[in-house]
Amino acid sequence: MNDDLDARLVSGLARLNLAMKSEAFAQAGRLGLSPTQGQILTQLDSAKAPQTLSALARTLALSSPTVSDSVAALVEKGLVKKRPAPDDARKISLDVTAAGRRAAKAMGGGSEVLLNAVGRLTRVERATMLDAVIKMIVMLQDQGKIPVSQMCVSCMHFRRDRHLGSEKPHHCALIDVPIAAEDFRIHCPEHAVEPYEPIDCDFHDELEAASTLGKSVELVLRTSEGRDEVVHDVIVDLGHARLGEPEGEYMTLAGGRRVRFDRIVSIDGRLRPPSVKG
Ligand code: SF4
Repeated sequence: MNDDLDARLVSGLARLNLAMKSEAFAQAGRLGLSPTQGQILTQLDSAKAPQTLSALARTLALSSPTVSDSVAALVEKGLVKKRPAPDDARKISLDVTAAGRRAAKAMGGGSEVLLNAVGRLTRVERATMLDAVIKMIVMLQDQGKIPVSQMCVSCMHFRRDRHLGSEKPHHCALIDVPIAAEDFRIHCPEHAVEPYEPIDCDFHDELEAASTLGKSVELVLRTSEGRDEVVHDVIVDLGHARLGEPEGEYMTLAGGRRVRFDRIVSIDGRLRPPSVKG
């Protein structure tokens, strides 16, 4: 019966996704844009600073050629401007023009259809739903199935349970205010991820040996929420960040999960030494 409940929930989510997609198509279409162009414009408009093409591709989980084509069309329409990135003149940074900002506003920041529907739920229903949605996003992020969202629970400024026992038990260190679960952001422009620090060379060798032997190992992994999780799996590959992943070095497990090296707490009981500075 639970399986049936799971299937019905997934089917319901697919229906909601359909509603969002058809609205996004219509919104972009009214401005003569493709849905991907609309998505890029909205992302650039909501970003706190100009973006490089590769960062944009990572955030939207799109390929660089797809983003490049759509950006070229947006530049042609006068909605996006390109200029050399301030920190590296070899890279191009992208930003919206004043006309692009107006177009992004005209498209709306979100799905009006779903906002109306969500607005009819009770406060408790909305809080329960937000909690479930965040848990699902965290799980999919940790499995490397979706790009890292700009959510409080994966943000370096987030302090869980800083004010235990109060109505707002958590804390945002950036703006220095207590927050409750129902205040959690899913797409916060101020979100930041811990920068990657390379791991100890001997520990790297140990991962490589385990990968070469191809036998199951016990790993303790730190999730993006800061919890420790025990996993038994085989390391099949070691390498660099792929499209949509924050920078760093990663291992791929036989189950498909991708783990950034600095998320490893231990392997077969041996603790990872403190990260070494680049
Ligand atoms: S509000 Fe923004 S900056 Fe603060 S913890 Fe949440 S994601 Fe991070």
